Amino acid sequence: MSGPGPESCLFCRIARKELPAAVLFENERILAFEDIRPRAPVHALVIPKAHFASLNEAPEGSEGLLGEILSTARAIARQKGIDGSGYRVVLNTGPHSGQEVSHIHFHVLGGRPMAWPPG
Ligand code: 5GP
Ligand code: ZN
Repeated sequence: MSGPGPESCLFCRIARKELPAAVLFENERILAFEDIRPRAPVHALVIPKAHFASLNEAPEGSEGLLGEILSTARAIARQKGIDGSGYRVVLNTGPHSGQEVSHIHFHVLGGRPMAWPPG
């Protein structure tokens, strides 16, 4: 699950503003943007600007960054007004999860009830 390197990685290119995205939040380390193919009324993606392919490749010392991404997911849920109704934060990792883009990304999904367990 290593995928393309940072040069050609889709989400690195979005983070570098080489490709457009509807940005919801940005700081030096993190970018949050609308998913291009939303699976729910709210569907945002939160990524680190640093490239790593998945949780499996998250480097030693990235725990703070991963925590900041979770805080950002919460802030997006508040910004979208779904913190009270509830939402799901999804981190697909590897083939069985359906991960398609090999740059770690957290989905923030909400605005409708969701089934459990996931398919
Ligand atoms: P995965 O299946 O890897 O967990 O999720 C990848 C997500 O990225 C999918 O929900 C897909 O719709 C989204 N996506 C793929 N390409 C683009 C793109 O070019 N722009 C945006 N904003 N989202 C994308
Ligand atoms: Zn990348």
